[in-house]
Amino acid sequence: MERRAIVVTGVVQGVGFRPFVYHLADRFQLHGSVKNQSGSVLIEVEGEPSSLEGFLAELTDRPPPLAQIDRLSWEPRAPRGESRFQIESSEADGASPVFISPDVATCPECLAEVFDTGDRRFGYPFLNCTNCGPRLTIITGAPYDRRRTTMATFAMCAACRAEYDDPADRRFHAQPTACADCGPRLRLLDGAGMPLSSPDPIAFFGEALEKGEIGALKGLGGYHLACMARDSSTVAELRRRKHRDEKPFAVMVADLEAAERLVEIGPAERSLLLSAARPIVLLRALRPDVVAEEVAPGNPWLGVMLPYTPLHHLLMRAVEGVPLVMTSGNRSDEPIVHRESDAGTLAGIADLFLVHDRPIHVRCDDSVTRVVDGVELPVRRSRGYAPSPIALPVACPRPVLAVGGQLKVTFALGRGRQAFVSHHMGDLDHYNAFQSFENDVELYQRLFAIRPELLVHDLHPDYVTTRYAQERAAREGTQLLAVQHHHAHVASCMAENGLDEPVIGVAFDGSGFGDDGAIWGGEFLVGDYRGVRRAAHLRYIRMAGGDRAVREPWRLALAHLRDAGKEINDIKAHALHADVRVVLRMLERNINAPFTSSVGRLFDAVASLAGVRDRVSFEGQAAIELEALATAQPEGEAYPLDFEPSGGGGGMDGPMVIDTRPMIRAVADDVANHVSSGLIARRFHSTMVDLVALTCGRLRDATQIETVVLSGGVFLNALLTHEVCARLGREEFRVYRHRLVPPNDGGLSLGQLAVAAALLS
Ligand code: ZN
Ligand code: ZN
Ligand code: FE
Repeated sequence: MERRAIVVTGVVQGVGFRPFVYHLADRFQLHGSVKNQSGSVLIEVEGEPSSLEGFLAELTDRPPPLAQIDRLSWEPRAPRGESRFQIESSEADGASPVFISPDVATCPECLAEVFDTGDRRFGYPFLNCTNCGPRLTIITGAPYDRRRTTMATFAMCAACRAEYDDPADRRFHAQPTACADCGPRLRLLDGAGMPLSSPDPIAFFGEALEKGEIGALKGLGGYHLACMARDSSTVAELRRRKHRDEKPFAVMVADLEAAERLVEIGPAERSLLLSAARPIVLLRALRPDVVAEEVAPGNPWLGVMLPYTPLHHLLMRAVEGVPLVMTSGNRSDEPIVHRESDAGTLAGIADLFLVHDRPIHVRCDDSVTRVVDGVELPVRRSRGYAPSPIALPVACPRPVLAVGGQLKVTFALGRGRQAFVSHHMGDLDHYNAFQSFENDVELYQRLFAIRPELLVHDLHPDYVTTRYAQERAAREGTQLLAVQHHHAHVASCMAENGLDEPVIGVAFDGSGFGDDGAIWGGEFLVGDYRGVRRAAHLRYIRMAGGDRAVREPWRLALAHLRDAGKEINDIKAHALHADVRVVLRMLERNINAPFTSSVGRLFDAVASLAGVRDRVSFEGQAAIELEALATAQPEGEAYPLDFEPSGGGGGMDGPMVIDTRPMIRAVADDVANHVSSGLIARRFHSTMVDLVALTCGRLRDATQIETVVLSGGVFLNALLTHEVCARLGREEFRVYRHRLVPPNDGGLSLGQLAVAAALLS
């Protein structure tokens, strides 16, 4: 007889780990106990040595599906001659590390119960078990236990309690477990927030949607606005009420078969759609007739997701599987509503509300992802993913908080080799969004028991996160570190790929504050976490009107034409505008016309020149349309480029400047010769591939570095990412891109953290 004390760390709480251990101990006829401690699970088992070995092997090789074991260690103990195995209640010391599971989509067993007329939970929209259900969104403290969730106020009925206490039951210690007798309930409200009574709120809500009404649905991480996706006028009305012009809406379909009728799905996309995280997957639309054009205007990709809560499944059944628009319940670009007290914000948008009384503690948007070359390329990492830890290649010797940027914000807490990257906080322009940011930073610090000793922020002095970090550091006496935006992008891609070596970092995005005060975004940085040298960048161009130029790409087109020495009249009337003279004067006199090297702005300029669009209603819109046009074209020859050995007054040691003027002149000639916008888009993408390959080639010659990392929001472009990876691969570079965090600013916090870890080590 032997006894062992086994400590397991990783994602081991809230994932059915203790019941799993209980069953395993039973199988191997071992006695002892299992309990959650902060950050780990402690198992004490005694029995035959061979059984102990078998137990350990099973635990290591076949842990429960949602668990992620990072470390397992054991030491011998004196046997106590116990006669049974038991699960002990958890300790709440809060002093040591804790791991929190992301929210998990309804599992097949629970789904079967919802639709089983003989089951006691038939039709109950809040059932869950140890393998599925809400996690991060309901957690109020650590360790994970019902008392520290928003289920605390619901007293379990005798039947639920019996399952919860029965080690043989699938709901053994399922913290959010509930049934119709004891758990959360639905409520229907009209557009003014007055209660509506109906024996079947889901059917009532479904019928209202079928009649063309717009409904607000309280979900897992916030409210959704829902309506029939095939109904043009309803979708157009939703856009009008939401003040959202053209940004695509996501669609929820009943199941995989329904998705297959709507969009093109490869094997990687299929497994993402069906994964426990249930993200919105961007897929190529096959049947535009099933979904109104207004859902994703001018966009060949459709964001599709499958139901991930029992409520969704019941609703999809109520509308007979007809695809529903499911978009964030918010007004314009404000954060998604998650509290009933804020639901009034949606009055005037929603005709009716379907809500429930289980509070959402953590606002968490749907995740968005796509697939490139069979591998995931995250667009927004949030519900279902966060806060799973990401391994850092360099350990953080002290606790660190990295606060991200200003848009698509995530923050990250680092301790040792673990980075806890938060769910998506969105754009922090709204005060309400910033408040969520502050609250959620505080919550994560408590959940993971991390008290940061260093705060890392972007170099941009006006980002609200920069000011937050500075004020907090002053208040708490913590250290501060500023990391340049594109250095953080490159470090982010290095970190998730486990790299710790000098690289050529290609950082292409919309904008980031540069060392010289200009707006960077077409950068080749050589170096590592500890520091980078700006080795090359796109030629500076002036953005007349600053931020206005972001919304009005024609201003960039004009600046490029003027810079390239092309007659403005060479361009068709579409690029001409009443404000042209004003903008030309701004460019000439350098009034409110900051320099930028941004690739995002170059996409905008080319889109305008090619007649695709002169104005955008959301950032990246022109680039998405160029990508779509180019994808539909066979090969197109690249436009010419030039390289200046050094520039920006930096002397011979300054960065190489990539001269885009020859390309702009060629684009202008194509436009003058009535070449189609599709072919121009295709040729432009080929040029960008050339630009990356030629620049990396020169930098490899100069530095002998063969590792290239691709980061920045521009690399959400699937065509560009695919072609750049293929080309660099053919030229024998080792190429890395994002798979775990988005290439856009949602990945900045991880990069900031990696830089801090390396500098502290
Ligand atoms: Zn379940
Ligand atoms: Zn119950
Ligand atoms: Fe960026």
